[in-house]
Amino acid sequence: MIRYSSPQEALRRVFGYDSFRGFQEEVVKTVVEGRDALVLMPTGGGKSLCYQIPALLRDGVAVVISPLIALMQDQVDALEEAGVRAAYLNSTQTPEEAADVRAALQRGEVDLLYIAPERLMTAGMGRLLDGLRLSLFAIDEAHCVSVWGHDFRPEYGALSHLRERWPDVPRIALTATADRKTREEIVEKLLVEPREFVASFDRPNIFYRVVEKKNVKEQLLSFIRSEHPGECGVVYCLARRTTEEVAEYLNAAGIHALHYHAGLSAEERSRRLSEFLRCDDTVMVATIAFGMGIDKPNVRFVAHVDMPKSIEGYFQETGRAGRDGLPADAWMAYGLSDVMTQKYLIDQGNADSLYKELSVQKLDAMLAYAEAGDCRRQRLLAYFGEASAPCGHCDNCKEPPEMVDMTIEAQKLLSCIVRVQKMSGVSFGATHVINILLGRENERIDSFGHRALSTYGIGKDVSEAQWRMVVRQLLARHALWVDVERFNALRLSPETAAPILKGEERVFVRRLVHKRQRKTAA
Ligand code: ADP
Ligand code: ZN
Repeated sequence: MIRYSSPQEALRRVFGYDSFRGFQEEVVKTVVEGRDALVLMPTGGGKSLCYQIPALLRDGVAVVISPLIALMQDQVDALEEAGVRAAYLNSTQTPEEAADVRAALQRGEVDLLYIAPERLMTAGMGRLLDGLRLSLFAIDEAHCVSVWGHDFRPEYGALSHLRERWPDVPRIALTATADRKTREEIVEKLLVEPREFVASFDRPNIFYRVVEKKNVKEQLLSFIRSEHPGECGVVYCLARRTTEEVAEYLNAAGIHALHYHAGLSAEERSRRLSEFLRCDDTVMVATIAFGMGIDKPNVRFVAHVDMPKSIEGYFQETGRAGRDGLPADAWMAYGLSDVMTQKYLIDQGNADSLYKELSVQKLDAMLAYAEAGDCRRQRLLAYFGEASAPCGHCDNCKEPPEMVDMTIEAQKLLSCIVRVQKMSGVSFGATHVINILLGRENERIDSFGHRALSTYGIGKDVSEAQWRMVVRQLLARHALWVDVERFNALRLSPETAAPILKGEERVFVRRLVHKRQRKTAA
């Protein structure tokens, strides 16, 4: 085996780079010294070198655990190309190929072994590894161990035994997506007193903006026409059908658009992906199935016509804009119906109750982001555990929304919900409650006798749209929740609603019309 005197030498001779990036060198040193490390870096940040170089500097075989079999092969090919003795063991191999790898391991001829997590914990593999000298364990996509993370994989659970079974072998856990909770779970489950390395997730060239959803197709079209004519972008939609509708609408308006979702054949998808990668004026209208492998530098905007279900998802999707470092837009339209749809999808899914509970919490964090009146970037970074100052160039920084104290309105709304429930024994959806507050007349109100309520018509001075904002704000604050079982009825969360009802907590809601516009209108 070739010996390298220093990390720099390995970096230069094996990988052909002159210098380390960011904290790569610190990570390498930590692992070489035999300490555990947690590494958080955005995709493309250079995580691989953080364990590949220690693998070359320490004695024995480095075991790299990765869930993505396709990537495993690429990595091993690239390493072999660079003259590194790397191999993998996975289900795509014939028994003969696997036997060859085992023999090479036993002869001490492998420096890096890539392996899938489910395979690692088998009895046979345990025996094989016991007979080898191990240099380190690298756990890639480490967020998969977290129940809170967005990609939990049960087979990662067993990796918590690594530290008992091989206590002297250092572990390095790596991921590109982890908020604070996920990070804590990774440490708790996989590592021992690790040094933690967290790269900034800030994407300073992305301009974040959230708009109120009205006629979303028209809004999208005018956004593209006025700010990105003839440029390349991605539009994310929740439903497959929407991708088709939106693409058709854009094409009819003269914008070159393609739709993309998991219902298309693999061939069709790859044809569309390569067209998108090749062209400079294509708008891809897609579900989140469009994700892996989009490393196109000049995506000038990412638009969401439906609210994503978590901040992690939103951040990953918007992160596909502006990879070239030039200014790019992250534009999202959302409304109350998005929240209802997402809650419905969570409720109807066949996940267990813990998962549903977590999904609701994530959705609420997303909702709070959408509703926020302060710096968007600061909120996003805070979600990933990063402190920052207001950025000065998101929508809220550039044009701070006017926040008005709507505590009284919130109280009216909450007590209206309580009264309706008392009178009729059931709860109702937002539209009905708002109609009562506005003192509207319709069959439903008549048939339930809701005109008789003391809250009937007490909210006439506020517009329907503004009432909807109050509802969203109360949902974001958990003072209200949506009962999906009962046709999206609004229900009170007593602990969070009480201080609002008592006036101990104020409720601020952004005013619908911006100051400037109001002045010119007046
Ligand atoms: P990640 O796993 O974090 O997504 P990779 O490890 O695949 O990122 O690295 C992304 C790219 O950056 C690769 O092409 C890699 O060769 C390159 N790279 C990593 N570290 C350096 C460095 N110190 N100098 C130059 N290029 C680097
Ligand atoms: Zn900002």
